Amino acid sequence: MTTQSPHPFHLIVKPVGAKCNLDCKYCYYLRKQERYEADASMQMSEALLEHYIRSHIDAQPATAKHIEFSWQGGEPALRGLAFYEKAIELQRQYMREGISYTNNFQTNGTLINDRWAAFFKKHNFLVGISIDGDKRNHGPTRPNLKSESSFNQTLRGLEALKRHEVRFNTLSVVHSDNAHLGKHTYNYLKSLGATVIQFQPCMEDPRDRRTEKDWSLTPEQWGQFLCEVFDEWKTSDVGDVFVQFFENTLGILAGQPSQMCFYGEVCGQQMMLEHDGSVYSCDHFSYNEYRVGQLKALDPLSIPVNEVPSSNDTDLGKIAGSTKQLSFGTNKWLNLPKQCIECDFRPLCNGGCPKDRIATNDSQSGVNALCAGYKQFFLHSLPTYGAILDALKHGHPAATYPLFLS
Ligand code: SF4
Ligand code: SF4
Repeated sequence: MTTQSPHPFHLIVKPVGAKCNLDCKYCYYLRKQERYEADASMQMSEALLEHYIRSHIDAQPATAKHIEFSWQGGEPALRGLAFYEKAIELQRQYMREGISYTNNFQTNGTLINDRWAAFFKKHNFLVGISIDGDKRNHGPTRPNLKSESSFNQTLRGLEALKRHEVRFNTLSVVHSDNAHLGKHTYNYLKSLGATVIQFQPCMEDPRDRRTEKDWSLTPEQWGQFLCEVFDEWKTSDVGDVFVQFFENTLGILAGQPSQMCFYGEVCGQQMMLEHDGSVYSCDHFSYNEYRVGQLKALDPLSIPVNEVPSSNDTDLGKIAGSTKQLSFGTNKWLNLPKQCIECDFRPLCNGGCPKDRIATNDSQSGVNALCAGYKQFFLHSLPTYGAILDALKHGHPAATYPLFLS
């Protein structure tokens, strides 16, 4: 019997843990494989899948209206299509009346063929394709295990999705070597047919770094990138192309809560489940001290070596409502530095993600290392946002905002 959590929560699931068929230079997750024995299967068993799906549904509070099942990696397609067919069957079997549900799948695209695409279409998956830009941009940092560019295979996967009319969005990592390509990258993603675009700033944690080079952005690079893309977007795409961060900022200015955990006052409602049943506070805090529970581990061989679980809770509802998990979320607010509390842009940014609140040469400890970049962007974009909001207030489409510029 699973306890109901006091609030709805979300879980990112990694059916093959950190296992991947690519070797992306800046990946924050690949080194998590080092936690396991070299011969560990790194595969979530079907028994654990069933236990997880049942618990995820049962642990939602009575007020829950929707569950989003999120599959991620590593490369989740390595777990094979049959695993996800089973997942759909189990979701149907255990779903509670009155709750709708959808699935999303974040992939590098290289294994996606017509069979996968037909499956995604049939079950209305939203597929996130990780693509950093054109061949010149994507290739060098996203090689396969033979050190060859994965660009052509990623594009092939995307074409399969388009052939089957699968809903997709793009996720591009912005790092030290491609931050100067903002305008070009944005236009390239649009040329692929992307209308929902996410940019993720690369900020490496030394514990996860895989190469001698630090791929992290400087705040100036991030600010410049955002401003460049914003200027392209505002010229012809307002209301047609959804850049996640731009839409989120607009939503906050319109009085809505942040849809992105990074920019909310608190977070912590998005935990992560590893292939072996370990539950962590967040995908970006997959360290032992943030392990908040352990769903029934059915394959003892795959349990991390040299780690004493910091929590033995096995009840997902209790884990989601635990003091440890709730504190993880509220600490985002409680640890906000004075500089943020006094900042005019605080409601739009809320100090960003705690993983980025690290000491660098440019930033005092506790303030987001990309702070100056965020400030540059907000200063640059606010007049346009003001005009967009005026247009909407007067009942006009957002794209008519130039008429409202003062
Ligand atoms: S730590 Fe960062 S990524 Fe994780 S939930 Fe909080 S804001 Fe989101
Ligand atoms: S812009 Fe900088 S100072 Fe202002 S809230 Fe964001 S991180 Fe804090």
